[in-house]
Amino acid sequence: MSQVPKTIDPAGQMMIECAACEGIRIAWDRLEAMQPQCGFGKLGVCCTVCAMGPCRIDPFGNGPQEGICGATAQTIVARNLARKIAAGCSAHSDHGRAVAEALLLAAENPESGYRIKDERKLRRLAEEFGIPQEGRSAEQVAKDVAEACLREFGKPHGELVMAQRAPEPRKTIWRELGIMPGAIDREVVRLLHQTHMGVDADPKNLLLSGMRCALADGWGGSMIATDLQDVLFGSPKPVRARTNLGVLRPERVNVIVHG
Ligand code: SF4
Repeated sequence: MSQVPKTIDPAGQMMIECAACEGIRIAWDRLEAMQPQCGFGKLGVCCTVCAMGPCRIDPFGNGPQEGICGATAQTIVARNLARKIAAGCSAHSDHGRAVAEALLLAAENPESGYRIKDERKLRRLAEEFGIPQEGRSAEQVAKDVAEACLREFGKPHGELVMAQRAPEPRKTIWRELGIMPGAIDREVVRLLHQTHMGVDADPKNLLLSGMRCALADGWGGSMIATDLQDVLFGSPKPVRARTNLGVLRPERVNVIVHG
């Protein structure tokens, strides 16, 4: 009996078969063992936000339509999605913070192992953040850029600097909807607060806050990570290269970076 391929990537499929021959359990095996997955969880109508739960809404309308606290299916789904956004924003953005800290190390400590590879990009960022450059070394400027980026995580007032790169009509829409992001950490905290039991039950409001947090991720933490990595490790350019599992060499130490 012919097996249905588990991936469209032939190299991946080969490795899946390889793993099966070796008796190594991988994600596909764990997914199969999990069947059927929880239908309430899949729909997002199970709530574990507080210790009175878990509560679940009957999607067919026969059983409970509200959690113990009175949250409806719409509220629960919106809160679950928003909390996932907050977690994603935290993961991406804390990465960005770590890169800003690495840039600070590169600026302050020549022994750190980090150095500035793309000075042009650094100076463009300095201009964007209003950092003086005349007569200043790349390291002096980098220190101020790193500090300015770190402040983006917790500044008490104002919009994100990098979000100003968005086109004017887009920024107008964000401001009208009240979703122009401020400090990155604050957006995560605000969303976790807002989605807690007994705080905000309006699904539209919850989703708007989720969008603001997502924008803080994309136009804040993730953008800081990308731009400062370019400064530290060089801006990417197109190259011809081998990709996929074909890069692995049995005679070498193969280090696989995920991210
Ligand atoms: S927040 Fe409401 S719906 Fe969620 S677990 Fe607590 S009581 Fe149940």
